[in-house]
Amino acid sequence: MKELMVDLRSDTVTKPSEAMRKAMHDAEVGDDVYREDPTVNRLQERAAEIFGREAALFVPSGTMGNQTALKVHTRPGQEVICEERCHIYNYEMGMLAAFSGLVPRTIHAEDGILTWNLIAPHIRKRNDHRARTGLIELENTSNLAGGSVYPLATLNEIADNAHAAGLPVHLDGARIFNAGVAVGKPVAEITRKFDSVMFCLSKGLGAPVGSMLVGSKEFIEEALIARKMLGGGMRQAGILAAAGLIALEENPKRLHIDHANARFLAQELAQIPGIKIDPAKVESNILFFDVTGTGLTAQEVSKRLAAQGVLANPTSGQLIRMVTHLDVDRAGCERALQVLREVVSPRVAVAS
Ligand SMILES: *Cc1c(COP(=O)(O)O)cnc(C)c1O
Repeated sequence: MKELMVDLRSDTVTKPSEAMRKAMHDAEVGDDVYREDPTVNRLQERAAEIFGREAALFVPSGTMGNQTALKVHTRPGQEVICEERCHIYNYEMGMLAAFSGLVPRTIHAEDGILTWNLIAPHIRKRNDHRARTGLIELENTSNLAGGSVYPLATLNEIADNAHAAGLPVHLDGARIFNAGVAVGKPVAEITRKFDSVMFCLSKGLGAPVGSMLVGSKEFIEEALIARKMLGGGMRQAGILAAAGLIALEENPKRLHIDHANARFLAQELAQIPGIKIDPAKVESNILFFDVTGTGLTAQEVSKRLAAQGVLANPTSGQLIRMVTHLDVDRAGCERALQVLREVVSPRVAVAS
């Protein structure tokens, strides 16, 4: 039964490859809190190199990477400007307030893509009453806005203006390699102007655990302290970094397959009566579709799919999210579509 499962809940469900398990087995390790794990050091050097930065830091999760960066860039009582559907505000347990004492200043943007015009009116300078803006945070690709991708000019315009206003800019690049594939540019180029970048090894890149922070040497030295505060100082973490290295070196080049599968799913979904999706909006490996027209709730559809081995999460009463990744091939997508067609077809047809 297990091999028939098609798991489209998230790209976090990817399992480590044979090559990763072998590398983990053979990994040379040391105590990373003493900075003596050669495999962690190699991963950090490679990440810094690939992003064209001075330094990088291995962290256990994307959440810890983001929260570490927020802590380093800000002071308690400041505002962080972010898009209203962003991960740091909605999916990180309110930690921006709990750990860094920040107030989120959320802005709604079409498809989750902020622009300087949207941000500028919300910047608060020194004032005797209002909290000051401390940081601008962007998410690329935007998860909850359907894997949407920032145009490079928009990223650069926001960063340049933020810097002119004396503000740092952090990038939640959990899926930055997907963004790079979507715009056909290296990650170093599309992240160049950010003061810090977090990206995940454990999503589309397929590593079992881990994310990275990249930035200046000075930023990473401070990040080390915030990571330790969060309990993220790991010891023989080379076991994990070994898999991370393979993820980083090998898997960015296959992400275009996931994007093609997501586009295929979107185009086919758009043909199913009762299902609403605009395939033109599917730019990377994430898609959302509306099931209202089927007369079923998203929860009901999701439950019926799961009963036939197709996993996809409802994100509201109307919407279901699907995420493509290296453990779902084209045949898996076709099977998911077939099951969905059966699940949402009018009851009469099912009974006959
Ligand atoms: C997954 C994700 C993260 C980090 O999640 P962890 O589960 O903590 O690794 C951060 N930002 C975005 C946009 C994500 O999708």
